[in-house]
Amino acid sequence: MNTTFLAMSISMLLGIGLLLGLGALSILSGALNFLFVKPKIGIYKSQLGDKGFAFSFEWDQNAEPVKFDRIQIHLFNPFGLPAQLEITREFEASSQDFVRDLDFGEKFVEIINAKGINDATIEFHVSSSSDNVSHQISIKGKAFIDKYKNATMTIDEVRENFMVSKVKPLFEIPERTFISPPLPKSSKALKLATNPEFAGQFSVGSTEAAGASSVPNFSVSKVWIEPGCIVCDACEAIFPEVFEVTDSTCIIRPGAPMDDGLRIQESAEACPVEVIKFTRIA
Ligand code: SF4
Repeated sequence: MNTTFLAMSISMLLGIGLLLGLGALSILSGALNFLFVKPKIGIYKSQLGDKGFAFSFEWDQNAEPVKFDRIQIHLFNPFGLPAQLEITREFEASSQDFVRDLDFGEKFVEIINAKGINDATIEFHVSSSSDNVSHQISIKGKAFIDKYKNATMTIDEVRENFMVSKVKPLFEIPERTFISPPLPKSSKALKLATNPEFAGQFSVGSTEAAGASSVPNFSVSKVWIEPGCIVCDACEAIFPEVFEVTDSTCIIRPGAPMDDGLRIQESAEACPVEVIKFTRIA
């Protein structure tokens, strides 16, 4: 068995092991989710008198996005009287944790006063008629009676104090996302090449305009390019009569005019690698 084959076999085994591990983890997390995120029913004080029953229902809405709209209360009382009773009520469907206070009628009064209720079992079936989902929650008769008789909080108070709206927030889109507001009006103009007011100062013939204003022109006796030109074309753009940019460097044209020192100086100052040199005539 050569080493390549051995290495491939080990890699495959590791890959399979990793996949199996991830699968097991996924199944385990699903099982834990099922165990710990169980539906819950809460019992509150009804505002509808003896026949009323107020309750809340909570479940994992992400795992089970359904609308519940029905509850059934089932008394299972094998050693008492009545031995069994069942009441079903429908209510406004809800896809979020909810509270309801419903009239369950005379049968509910019978359940509360059933003989042997402490040893009975009360089953709640909360279901969704549209999604065909049902949850059963069982509670011992004594615990149910204790909670029912000692309840002090109404569903209005529960709503007010505990039920946080789970409606997803909507994100507002501003009217203007990328367009900035106009600049405030000012008497000062921006000195940009694109501003017509200053265009002359950025043009090829700018030195003429500048010279006309203040700085006197001069002549040069010699202009040359030192090694290091990066062929950016800046000099030729400013003074094409003097500078010619080739594929690999910049050269001085034969017979280039030497009497416009200001434009040569401007080209030298514009050169990003400062390889344009000249000798000014004093
Ligand atoms: S400006 Fe300088 S770097 Fe650019 S082409 Fe002219 S000499 Fe070369």
